[in-house]
Amino acid sequence: AAQDTLLEVNNIEVIYNHVILVLKGVSLSVPKGGITALLGGNGAGKTTTLKAISNLLRSERGDVTKGSITYQGDRIQDLTPADLVARGVIQVMEGRHCFEHLTVEENLLTGAYTRKEGNRAIKDDLEMVYEYFPRLRERRTSQAGYTSGGEQQMCAIGRAMMARPEMILLDEPSMGLAPQLVEQIFGIVKRLNEEQGVTFLLAEQNTNVALRFAHYGYILESGRIVMDGPAAELRENPDVKEFYLGMS
Ligand code: ATP
Repeated sequence: AAQDTLLEVNNIEVIYNHVILVLKGVSLSVPKGGITALLGGNGAGKTTTLKAISNLLRSERGDVTKGSITYQGDRIQDLTPADLVARGVIQVMEGRHCFEHLTVEENLLTGAYTRKEGNRAIKDDLEMVYEYFPRLRERRTSQAGYTSGGEQQMCAIGRAMMARPEMILLDEPSMGLAPQLVEQIFGIVKRLNEEQGVTFLLAEQNTNVALRFAHYGYILESGRIVMDGPAAELRENPDVKEFYLGMS
């Protein structure tokens, strides 16, 4: 693989409860500095793929039974999610998962828990997050559980940024959000990619928006990658138009 490939998923198979085969040989690669989209309908296996990468399947009785996953050339399948955070890979799970009883700012600060720099660096990063998400600054003393869905999604991404990640795995950022907010959040993801150099692998059902912001896309159907290519090419592909963009 090229030296600028960060993550390489090679032909993985995932089985839940020892019997339910959900991923049937999925391969993908994520270049450093890119936004890569993993697309597909409900139940196609997007979340399972992200959880396989961040080693979160075990608690759901899921196992990677074939294939390999490497990060910068090193096998990462036996790392704990905490080890991965230390390597710079952060997952933002579907449904945002803020700590509801903490304030927005306390939530953001929890993202920095593995860091060893002093308070100064962490304060600077808090400022950086507030520059990208001015709304979070306004809401910083609010209890996260009482903020809107869009604010919680921002909080979850902001918290991930507080760990100074090299790569963020972002599961379904558009879920449950109004179109205007989806645009706003994808716009910020793009800026974080361009200005902070963060690599993204994002799972999305909203093919339309994802292909406008991503560089490259993979389409997953029933646990198999059925198509992949540069986002601009996928947007023009007749099958993608017909089946995923809702206009033929
Ligand atoms: P969604 O957008 O709904 O999250 P997805 O593409 O992310 O869809 P997955 O959540 O990865 O899809 O689910 C893929 C398949 O695996 C589905 O058929 C789902 O029912 C099944 N599945 C997911 N989690 C489990 C589990 N813990 N045990 C058994 N089957 C599961």
